[in-house]
Amino acid sequence: MPPSEFIPYGRQSIGDDDIAAVVEVLRSEFLTQGPTVPRFEAAVASSTDAKFGVAVNSATSALHLACLALGLGPGDSLWTSPNTFVASSNCGLYCGAEVDFVDIDPRTYNMSVMALEEKLIQAEQLGRLPKIVIPVHFAGQSCDMRGIRTLANRYGFRIIEDASHAIGGRYLGEPIGNCQYSDITVFSFHPVKLITTGEGGLLTTNDANIATILRRLRSHGITREPGEIVEKMEGGWSYQQIELGYNYRMTDMQAALGLSQLNRLDEFVLHRHARAERYDEWLAALPIQLPYQGADSYSALHLYPIVLKDTTRRRDVFDQMRKAGILVNVHYIPVYTQPYYRKLGFQAGLCPESERYYAGAITLPLYPALTGEQQRYVVEILKQALQ
Ligand SMILES: *Cc1c(COP(=O)(O)O)cnc(C)c1O
Repeated sequence: MPPSEFIPYGRQSIGDDDIAAVVEVLRSEFLTQGPTVPRFEAAVASSTDAKFGVAVNSATSALHLACLALGLGPGDSLWTSPNTFVASSNCGLYCGAEVDFVDIDPRTYNMSVMALEEKLIQAEQLGRLPKIVIPVHFAGQSCDMRGIRTLANRYGFRIIEDASHAIGGRYLGEPIGNCQYSDITVFSFHPVKLITTGEGGLLTTNDANIATILRRLRSHGITREPGEIVEKMEGGWSYQQIELGYNYRMTDMQAALGLSQLNRLDEFVLHRHARAERYDEWLAALPIQLPYQGADSYSALHLYPIVLKDTTRRRDVFDQMRKAGILVNVHYIPVYTQPYYRKLGFQAGLCPESERYYAGAITLPLYPALTGEQQRYVVEILKQALQ
């Protein structure tokens, strides 16, 4: 039985509390640069066991500022996973750096530590080691952060975790975002992600100096802080721009929504797990590879990607599901195969595992309000399409 509405691959869950929280800010003195943003930052830092949180207007802005705060610039190089949204590597290009890609592990679809090590050995011989590596916690499952940290210690690169899919998840029992293995972690609050602020992002770090730089850069590189100013202040009106920053600020309405959503994050993740378990059971007999969950990770389960064993059927299965009102998607087209990246010189074949995964991948709908009936319909249509 087809549902009366389209079933998207992901969507927000907004409750009355969320609406009331935003309205409260709208009736207050400050719509932006008020008290709610710092409260949201403190709440995320506390829930992830990080020392500092810095909120911005998107994860894309967060990635850009993270790269700048770690000193990325022309002549440097940044590596990330090809199995991600373009923002994970565009941030390197914003800084004038070169970017390159490390192939994925065929089980987790996360950056492969083995592939990273091989690429580092070659890069060292060529004198072209990366300054920054950005592991992406794909679908909400943590990368092998211990392995990546070990390589960072040996080869001297910095680590930014792109945890856009992973707030509410854990690695080795500890919250993702605690930066135990990295310099900075980045979260996204786009409506398809785990919790939303409409648009929004947040960086966590344990380094006070990095947090100071991030706060300054998100607001034009301007400061009034006694410890940061570089000249004597003329008067009470004074502020000093000491570097070239941006307007990447989050509004207080967004932060209020984020604070309210954060209260329900654990519940959202539990709902996602219950729905993923249903899929695991109902899809077990089909000719597809189901998402693998490693023992080190408690995934936030942002996505439920399946891989068709017969990749020649992907397009047809995708089209049939879309036609039935199921707005399946594909995560991700390997970034370096985008036209813009091909113009930079990247060629197909660079990351074979990533391309193999992509060829058969389809993301099924998964979000907290997805009903059992809707899931049954998704499974029924998928079965028909695979016949
Ligand atoms: C969504 C996403 C981003 C960008 O997030 P925005 O908040 O939309 O800028 C970056 N990286 C990954 C892996 C994402 O999924």
